[in-house]
Amino acid sequence: MLGEGAFGGVYRATFYVKGERKPVAVKVNKGNEKISTRNMIEDVCKEARIMRQYQHPNVVYFYGVCVEKEPIMLVMELANQGALDSFLKNEKNSVTLRDKLKYSLDASKGLEYLHQHGCIHRDVAARNFLMHKSVVKITDFGLSKQLSDLAHKYKLKDIQAKLPIRWLAPEVMVTATYTFKSDVYSFGILLWEIFMDGASPYPGMKLAEVRVKVKSGYRMDAPDRMPTFARNIMINQCWPQAPEDRGNMTEIRSSMESVLDGKVTAMGVRSMYMKT
Ligand code: ATP
Repeated sequence: MLGEGAFGGVYRATFYVKGERKPVAVKVNKGNEKISTRNMIEDVCKEARIMRQYQHPNVVYFYGVCVEKEPIMLVMELANQGALDSFLKNEKNSVTLRDKLKYSLDASKGLEYLHQHGCIHRDVAARNFLMHKSVVKITDFGLSKQLSDLAHKYKLKDIQAKLPIRWLAPEVMVTATYTFKSDVYSFGILLWEIFMDGASPYPGMKLAEVRVKVKSGYRMDAPDRMPTFARNIMINQCWPQAPEDRGNMTEIRSSMESVLDGKVTAMGVRSMYMKT
């Protein structure tokens, strides 16, 4: 077993594609009957067809879904280093600043790709990125997200209790409507997590306090070791209160790339520590 989420267990398995053996990860639904109504299965298959078209080095590849009988299973690319949040925590003594910059760029490319294909992720957070051979890949989008939302809904009386408050844009707390720009806000929280070795955002603050403060414009301080250009992206392009004042993922990816592309020398990184 690789891990467990609301939807169910995630297992390592072997998938045969055109005579070739492929190691894959399979998410197995815990078996909530309500998930498998006929309409639901049609929706699941429709979404699965869309997701199979997504192919990008920073997006976890989705092979397909088994809906013939319970339990529903989602088959996806296997990531050998697991979830980014636990990786950052466990490897904090070996992950360098250069690695963190590279993980941030990988993540921005994956999210940009989803946005270019019209997919709003709605749960951008380090736990929803996986590491494979030191490449960061976005996961838990589309079908996977819809099914885990459903699982939460049936499991918990109060759906609010499971909302990822610490990652939510202020307008989503009010309107419950997600947009590309609310993903951009959450991407800023992801940058904070990366430069804080996978720590949980708003340390020491309760959820109710986070909700009230973020709605009235409060933001976390940038991590000490975050390079200036990355903190500028986080604060000025991801975290403005008004969604229209935020950048889009293409602008954010391109700002990161222009600084990082072949320019991350030890000297460069050191000079990037300087605060503005
Ligand atoms: P939720 O079900 O609410 O979305 P979650 O995102 O924590 O919760 P899952 O996406 O079900 O849960 O994943 C649970 C764990 O399984 C992850 O934290 C990760 O360690 C492991 N995992 C998930 N997908 C893969 C994969 N493709 N390759 C390797 N490990 C995976």
